[in-house]
Amino acid sequence: MSARSEMVAGWLEPRAGEMVDFLGRLVAEPTENPPGTGLGRCARVLADQLQRLGLEPELIEITGPHTLEDPHIVRGSTGAGAKLLYFHGHYDVVPVQDRAQFAMRREGGRLIGRGTADMKGGIVSMVYGAAAAKELGLLGDGRIVIHLVPDEETGSVVGAGYLREHGLIDPSAVAMVTGEPSGSSIWNAARGAISLKVGFEGREAHVGQATFGINTFAHMVYVARPLLAYAEEMAGRPTGYPMNPADPTGSMVVVGGLSGGGSNFNVVPADAWFTVDSRFNPEEDLDAELARMTTIIREAAAEVDAKVTIDITQFQPPAGTPADHPAGAALARCAEEVRGEPAAFEMCGGILENRWYDQLGIPAFAFGAGRLDVSHGPHEYVDERELFRVAAVYALYANEMLDQP
Ligand SMILES: [Zn+2]
Repeated sequence: MSARSEMVAGWLEPRAGEMVDFLGRLVAEPTENPPGTGLGRCARVLADQLQRLGLEPELIEITGPHTLEDPHIVRGSTGAGAKLLYFHGHYDVVPVQDRAQFAMRREGGRLIGRGTADMKGGIVSMVYGAAAAKELGLLGDGRIVIHLVPDEETGSVVGAGYLREHGLIDPSAVAMVTGEPSGSSIWNAARGAISLKVGFEGREAHVGQATFGINTFAHMVYVARPLLAYAEEMAGRPTGYPMNPADPTGSMVVVGGLSGGGSNFNVVPADAWFTVDSRFNPEEDLDAELARMTTIIREAAAEVDAKVTIDITQFQPPAGTPADHPAGAALARCAEEVRGEPAAFEMCGGILENRWYDQLGIPAFAFGAGRLDVSHGPHEYVDERELFRVAAVYALYANEMLDQP
């Protein structure tokens, strides 16, 4: 262990109980999204803790059209220098399987409950990492700004999108790190997403007069076929970013994740719809792929005279910072300094808020104590020791990025 990491560990250790207690209070706030409840209350719990730690919180109310309950962005900061490092986290969680998940339990070195991994645990590590860096004088000629946002779990346009829209992200920042549950890896890239709802309009007719009807189910099947071929083609286009070897390397398209229509088994269906959901590798041009998909749909529909509508329900660009970027190498070094083993770079199979920073040219990484495979499930947990270790990594990273020439 280096002298620097010993000093950081020495600051964090006596605060371990405090960190666990803070996480327990965050888990107890039921910030389920959808629908996005209790966000204002949780934001105030966060702001109070930042205040106690001297991280100068500011509560930003999110106005404008949305259906979330009282959403706020909590913005904290420390240090006064010119170099800027962002810590970013989201405090909404996916819905629970059981209300008991809002009461955090401690068992065999694990903290169990909704959000412990994704990513209220990550927030605790970031907040204490920033506080450690401040108290130990590691910030040099730099500062940390912490952004804690709602609305990540349903597209993040209202939360992180607000920061972007209001010019609250400074493109000159040296890096951004978010405490998403990346396990032992660093996520330097993430796929982009396009979701569509494809609808058809036909004419209803009783089965006894079926030939009078226009069958939208038949149209749906006809249009789905070339989309399935498209999905197969995209699955065969591998990313150049490093990935978990167990995961598929192509872009992923699901045709018909949801579908519906019709009024009864003995009636020609006058309406039908299905969804298309896709996760595109960072190398793909999402505008071009959206154009390709809509062309496929419209051309197939035209061949059978189908009346078709296409709703774009999600459009999220991908993110990707090269694994050999110096800001990434520095994060990997800090992780190794604390954990004793190197962290590998990996593309996240899902979407990440990295993109809001990445699009402004800021190197962006996700790195957190939780594990993705337990994150949205009924047994979500974070390893207690990892929670402290990752806080130490953040403090070291701040030192590395802000105080080194
Ligand atoms: Zn998350």
